[in-house]
This record gives sequence, C-alpha cells and structure tokens, in this order.
Amino acid sequence: MQGQGELRDQTAEYQERIDDWAKKAVQRFRKAAGGVTPRTCPICGYHGLFPAFGQPPRFDARCGSCGSLERHRLIWLMVLREDFFEDDHAVLHFAPEQQLSGRIRVRVDRYETADLREADILTHRVNIEDTGLPDCSYDRIVCNHVLEHVDDTKALAELFRMLRPGGKALLSTPVIEGWAKTYEPEGIDSREARKLHFGQADHVRFYGRDIRDRIRAAGFQLREVVAEGQDVIDYGLWRGEAVFVATRPREQPE
Ligand SMILES: [Zn+2]
Repeated sequence: MQGQGELRDQTAEYQERIDDWAKKAVQRFRKAAGGVTPRTCPICGYHGLFPAFGQPPRFDARCGSCGSLERHRLIWLMVLREDFFEDDHAVLHFAPEQQLSGRIRVRVDRYETADLREADILTHRVNIEDTGLPDCSYDRIVCNHVLEHVDDTKALAELFRMLRPGGKALLSTPVIEGWAKTYEPEGIDSREARKLHFGQADHVRFYGRDIRDRIRAAGFQLREVVAEGQDVIDYGLWRGEAVFVATRPREQPE
C-alpha cells in the first residue's frame, strides 16, 4: 500500500507532466491552426492559407474565403470536370450547404432545396423518407451527409423515384472504409449513446464499405470519385474521401 504522501507526490508530478504536454500541444496547434500550406479552393478560386476545422481539428481544412470544407471541394472538382450540372437541369438539393448552394443555382434551369428543418432558404420542407414530391422530376439530386441521419432504405428509394431515368444523385456520408459492414446495433437510442457509437448525437449508424450495396439495392448504378494524388495537395482534400454518383438507369432491368 502506498502512503497518502507518496500518492500526492505522484499526482503532483503527473499533473506537472500533463501541464507541460498541454502547453506544447497548444503551441503546436496555434502554429498550424491558421493554415500550414497554401491551398486552392476550386469553388471560389481563393488561393492561400486554410484554417483548421473540426473536432479533433483537421489542418488546412476550411477555405479561408468561402468556408468550403474538404468534401465540398472534392464535390466541386467532380462537378467542374464532369460538367455535372447543365443549364437545362432541374436540381433538388437536400440539406443545402451554403458553400455549394449559390454555385449550383446559377448553373441550372430549376434549383430547389429541401430539408426537414424550418428555414427561409428552403423550397420544400419535407422528410427525405417520404417527400411527397413528384416522380421522375429531377435531373440531379444533391444529398450530402443526410443518409447517416435517416432510414436510408426509404431515403434512397425516394431519391430513385424522384430522379428522371438517366438522372444522377450526388451522395456523400462518413464511411469507415476498413469496415466491411455498417455499424448499426439495436438499442442505441439516447443522444449520448449515439454520439459515442456513431460520432454525432443525431447519427443513427456508421457506414462501412457496404454502403455501396445499399445504394445499388435501391436500383442505382454506382460510380465514385475519390480524393487522391496531387488533388489532395493542391486543393486540401481529405485523403481517400469518396463521393458517390448514383445514376438511375434509363432502362429498368427485367
Ligand atoms: Zn473557397
């Protein structure tokens, strides 16, 4: 058994070590928080330092001008390179991100937004699991970081239904690529438990690689665009992050 005095001495020594470590960590963070290496934003054209963002923070994450994050820039590179939006398109944008919304609006014929929450900027206040919006009415649907909050079987069926044949949905969500199967255990129903298990209080699962099977099961053909190579360096992307392009086939399989 240790004596009380000995224990106190050890605690004091431990606290000193922690204080020293924390001081160094804060110094390192302050040095990098404003940006480490100049990057380019393909959305707004800004070139310069990008501040850190996120919890824990990711360095060079947030555009110093328009506030775009890594995934917005990955999406926009794809949009530019593939001419994803055309001027006669009808587009529906779920949970519209302000970093993308205005840029999409000016490129297309009809731009509509949708979300469950109340907001002045919305065209439709609807639940993605059952929108009540008409069949085959959009050329493009944009749906980033929504599927991990909802019944994805219902949501993907809705996206498929609302797209015109040949239409495309742009989908992204957090995915753990090292997991074969999506983590979705029963009984995780408090905010605290969901934050612990799924990383955020309003997430209902953590996707594994099988997210692709779920998207295909709704009838989509699937392609993905991955952040890699020089793009990661130039545009400050998140290595390996994927964006899914899900196409409603023109011909329905027999
Ligand atoms: Zn920007």
